[in-house]
Amino acid sequence: MVTLPTAGANLVGLSREELEQLAVACGQARYRGRQLFRGIYARREQVFSNFTDLNGEFRTLLARECRIGYPEVQREFVSRDGAVRYVLRLEDGKTIEAVHMPERGRSTLCLSSQVGCALDCKFCFTALLGLARNLTAGEIAGQVLALLQAQRIPRRARLNVVFMGMGEPLLNLAAAMHAVRIMADADGLAIPLQRITLSTAGIVPRIYDLANEPMRPKLAVSLNASTEEQRTALMPLNRKYPLCELLQACRAYPLRPRERLTFEHVLLKGINDSDADAERVGALLHGIRAKVNLIPYNSGQELSYGPPPLARVLAFQGALTRQGVPAFIRISRGQDVRAACGQLSLAGS
Ligand code: SAH
Repeated sequence: MVTLPTAGANLVGLSREELEQLAVACGQARYRGRQLFRGIYARREQVFSNFTDLNGEFRTLLARECRIGYPEVQREFVSRDGAVRYVLRLEDGKTIEAVHMPERGRSTLCLSSQVGCALDCKFCFTALLGLARNLTAGEIAGQVLALLQAQRIPRRARLNVVFMGMGEPLLNLAAAMHAVRIMADADGLAIPLQRITLSTAGIVPRIYDLANEPMRPKLAVSLNASTEEQRTALMPLNRKYPLCELLQACRAYPLRPRERLTFEHVLLKGINDSDADAERVGALLHGIRAKVNLIPYNSGQELSYGPPPLARVLAFQGALTRQGVPAFIRISRGQDVRAACGQLSLAGS
């Protein structure tokens, strides 16, 4: 039972069911909640006077008690490839980043799930921030609304959403999944679940939890290494959740017909980019319906890794393909404005 929100409560982040409960708690018919949901997420209204399908009494009550608030765009950095990195200000003054990447006929939105990150991966710039806090479901769904508004993206545009910004979504799984259910709801943003991807550094117990979700988005796993020792050196979380246990969870993960589990492999020059690494990655993934996204390292002043030369990247890809593992080279977008994979660290804000 939802009680009437306290004065000023933000409705962004409430699901259709929660808004229906809210309507009932306000003495309204249940379907009014669905109208509210459509207004917030499908029509993307921000003022209650535009909810002309609601009765005047309910509108007045909502206008007095509630808000429809998005994270506020504090700065934007436009890459020459068209990607835009947004610095978004939250209600407590903390800032996060989200990225819009236009493609032919569709937009990909890269969202943050936490303010900063606790995982301390050695090649990632977000790690340098440490973790401040989890985002709420409203702050996650609100990033989508804020970017759609900033980019003036029309209502029926085709969208992809990836949780590949700041933070580890599987360490904030309840809020991330609440936001996913809101995004996927056909009455609202209506983003198909197959177009929403959670990316994890490998929080093994949460992978099993996600496997049991009735509404499951796609999953990507950041592998980034080919041996336990190498992975522990690059990703300290491998001590707690070793590669062997991670791969066991991946083997048990249910996939839809034709779906593949995505693995990301950041290529660090001279560290995890050899033919032997590629052979081992292929062997590790044996028996998993997998594909690999190879991400040449995106650099920045604070860290001293480097990307491999293109010939090495191609050789790595070839070695995986020969083993029957589809591998794709992902040249990250927005590198010139620190919008690329692993670069989100509030630079310049
Ligand atoms: N914590 C989650 C979500 C972040 S996704 C996860 O780790 O999956 C960010 C992706 O960018 C991860 O696949 C990560 O391995 C990759 N990445 C991190 N730093 C990078 C860098 N400097 N260059 C290229 N990719 C990087």
